[in-house]
Amino acid sequence: MSTIDGLPPLREVIATHGLSAKKSLGQNFLLDLNLTAKIARAAGDLAGADVLEIGPGPGGLTRGLLAEGARRVLAVEKDARCLPALDEISATYPGRLEVINADALALDPLAHLTPPIKVVANLPYNVGTELLVRWLTPPAWPPFWDSLTLMFQREVAERIVAAPGSKAYGRLAVLAQWRCEARIAMRLPPEAFTPPPKVASAVVHLTALPAPRYPADPAVLERVVAAAFGQRRKMLRASLKGLARDIESVLQEAGIAPTDRAEQVPVEGFCALARALAP
Ligand code: SAM
Repeated sequence: MSTIDGLPPLREVIATHGLSAKKSLGQNFLLDLNLTAKIARAAGDLAGADVLEIGPGPGGLTRGLLAEGARRVLAVEKDARCLPALDEISATYPGRLEVINADALALDPLAHLTPPIKVVANLPYNVGTELLVRWLTPPAWPPFWDSLTLMFQREVAERIVAAPGSKAYGRLAVLAQWRCEARIAMRLPPEAFTPPPKVASAVVHLTALPAPRYPADPAVLERVVAAAFGQRRKMLRASLKGLARDIESVLQEAGIAPTDRAEQVPVEGFCALARALAP
């Protein structure tokens, strides 16, 4: 069977290189090149952009990104077994794919990338949320990336885009929506992956705003949100009492009722709280 890039179909790649999926590395592969091209398109126009991809695995999404015109792709993969398959893709797209065999949590990708930069990844579930929080919370804004197009378990995706008052609203929603436009771009059933995971997935597309929606110190905001949602369903005056001696007046200064619960407070309210608590 032929493919658009002349490389073998992904099932064949996996068989040739013995890439049996490892659960410990969160390996659930996308083997449909039409689907990976669609995910690449969800990232917007790739032509003038460098793309950071975490966890290319056998390279299905990498091939989608290159076929859709990414200027360059930097692919960071922890599993050395995948490297020969990725080398074949590099040979098909000379000068456009750099592969680094490393743990994405330990690597500073910036040295290898030229702006504008888009991050596109079918993230390993075990490190996905940690990477997202890192990308959302640099001390200075705008960040190194223009957009993030990321596959998550659907439940995590719903938490990123959740509105105040909804069950999924929490730390991820506040951190994401404070400095980004966030939406679900695509929903995928477990059968889209090999092997199929236990849960459904979704692609979230986040665009970095030029400036945060409301002023706040990121470190203070993170502390407030962690404390507020650490004890869900508690009134804020109880969950935040460790943050200031007179938390009732801090809440008043921020325009928040002390009896409110974290899940009722909009992003703007948390930013006002962070300002009232700033040293
Ligand atoms: N992108 C491929 C696809 O869509 O078919 C594979 C996605 S799979 C869900 C996640 C990939 O991330 C695996 O290839 C896994 O080896 C890799 N991975 C897991 N932990 C990693 C880490 N800490 N740093 C870099 N890659 C990692």
